[in-house]
Amino acid sequence: MTPETPLPGPGPVDPAGAAALLAGARDVLVVGHVRPDADAAGSAIALATALRRAGTGAAVAFGGPDPVPHMVTVLDPDGIVVPAADAPADPDVLVCCDISSAPRIGDLGDRLDRARVSLAIDHHASFTGFATHHLVDPAAPATVLLVRDVLVALGAEVDAVIARALFAGLYTDTGGFRWGGADALRLGAELVEAGAEPRELMRELTGTRPFAWLAAQATVLAGARREPDAAGGAGLVWAAVDPATATRFRDHTPGLVGQLLATAGDGVAALLTETAPGEWSVSLRGTGSPDLSRAATALGGGGHPAAAGFERTGTRDGILDLLRAELAGAAQVCGTSPEVHPRDTRVR
Ligand code: AMP
Ligand code: MN
Ligand code: MN
Repeated sequence: MTPETPLPGPGPVDPAGAAALLAGARDVLVVGHVRPDADAAGSAIALATALRRAGTGAAVAFGGPDPVPHMVTVLDPDGIVVPAADAPADPDVLVCCDISSAPRIGDLGDRLDRARVSLAIDHHASFTGFATHHLVDPAAPATVLLVRDVLVALGAEVDAVIARALFAGLYTDTGGFRWGGADALRLGAELVEAGAEPRELMRELTGTRPFAWLAAQATVLAGARREPDAAGGAGLVWAAVDPATATRFRDHTPGLVGQLLATAGDGVAALLTETAPGEWSVSLRGTGSPDLSRAATALGGGGHPAAAGFERTGTRDGILDLLRAELAGAAQVCGTSPEVHPRDTRVR
């Protein structure tokens, strides 16, 4: 990017346009979605780190819940992540990474109105267009690929901190390079060369668990149920996590949905986590058909065809009933849907 790059007007921007907005910023607050995953956190940390190295005031924050997951601290050796309460109140530019809709900014949602410019960098098909400027590509397997394009446009050097943050998001959102094809693998190789050591990084992120997790996990999985007739006959495998387990093992329970999916055949897996009494966070995984983003969006959430989620207040059985109804509806339309797209095979 050159300093002469004109500042883009509101609406869609390309990576050079996004870089121009950031290069001219007084200070930047970068946020990822609530309950950040490695794509949200890695995107935000990589971008803010590059901006700070270039002399722009930059911080990262997440709109809840506190404290941030262990994964975030692993990716943040420089302490660029601040608690939501300490996030700048009036940032010049707000960047929203991996966020498909304004409510997913959580407790920091007021910054959207206060910032002079808001820039969404995202890859959800369900992106709602909530920011003043958008760099959004639903065909990208992870938001970190879009952030990488912005870093290239900024002329930023990818050091080991940035490489590890990007690699974590890339690895996670592509299901360990199962999705994303050669582009993802090529970026992965570049990031390894830039200092992201996969074995060490993945061990730090998810490779170690407390011993007590074995028994807790066994209890959750022993309660799993299979409903072969659900989702239009594709089937549903679900399990529920109680509030005590959800709190004590909050860094470990999200991965259980993958274990459910492995037993679901071509059907759907659902992990229902009761984060506080009567408050549920539901993770859905499948093959892309039926379209889980459709079912999740109908229930107040969103996501991708093969990976989606929603949050809801109620009882476990009430939420299961809502989910069964939406999955049956989504299964009905998917047979006749004209849209067949490569992204349907992507995980997040
Ligand atoms: P998760 O099961 O939390 O890993 O989320 C799977 C996918 O669904 C990710 O792309 C999330 O960004 C998306 N997602 C999860 N929960 C929500 C929600 N409440 N609203 C919108 N998207 C969501
Ligand atoms: Mn995400
Ligand atoms: Mn993502």
